[in-house]
Amino acid sequence: MPELPEVEAKRRYLAANALGRKIDRISVPDKRILDNTTPTALSRGLKGACFTDAERRAKYLLVRTDRNSILLIHFGLTGALFFRERGEPKPRFSKAEFYFEDGYCLHYTDPRLFGKIALYETTDDDDIPEIAKLGPEPLSRGFTFKMFNDVIRGHKTTLHQVLMVQELISGIGNEYSDEIAYQAGVRPDRMTTSLSDAEVRRLYDKMKWVLKQAVNLNAELDGWADRFLIPNRGKDGECPRTHDKLTKKTIAGRTSYFCPTCQK
Ligand SMILES: [Zn+2]
Repeated sequence: MPELPEVEAKRRYLAANALGRKIDRISVPDKRILDNTTPTALSRGLKGACFTDAERRAKYLLVRTDRNSILLIHFGLTGALFFRERGEPKPRFSKAEFYFEDGYCLHYTDPRLFGKIALYETTDDDDIPEIAKLGPEPLSRGFTFKMFNDVIRGHKTTLHQVLMVQELISGIGNEYSDEIAYQAGVRPDRMTTSLSDAEVRRLYDKMKWVLKQAVNLNAELDGWADRFLIPNRGKDGECPRTHDKLTKKTIAGRTSYFCPTCQK
């Protein structure tokens, strides 16, 4: 599932390609992807409009328009964006298509259809219920160690769980939660109450480090598989440092991986 760094990469892609072009026509080959709108309402709202800015909030993309509206995109498990020139073949699983006057098209593709596209007639993020309830952005300067420590100390649960609750810290999911725990040398199934002050400090520092690195790498971690756990997660995965077989465990209903040697 696209998490903070992946959605940030998609934001950059959209911002680099689709801003400032006038929308001529919208096609929705699969209307199940629409959340609070219909193909007709989406067309009415955006025909003749331009995307003016793209922001990321947690795992959401907020695309602002010159009609004082926000197109909200959530990528679900397999959502992606493709920018295509007229005449180029359509990407597979195209579910929503924004055709621009100049012949280009932005495709939202989603083979598994867990993503969502919605249109809000507002410029205020807090008018969007999904956005208003989100906790702080982990990479924001305002998200201090004290705030992180309060989140950890204030919730008696597993580390894996607390890192993934979007109302507490936003943008982190299963994979980056595992990565942060790995880099900090702490098992994801540890109860928050058992964590030492030094461990909480390390988790905070590694959370910032992991997310910053992943954003800088445009979420393409495969080339860094000797430093990151994420490319090594999955069946028969090994710890990139000690080459132990990774332990797989279900925590908070999600599959987590960790190194039995490096993580205590
Ligand atoms: Zn290891």
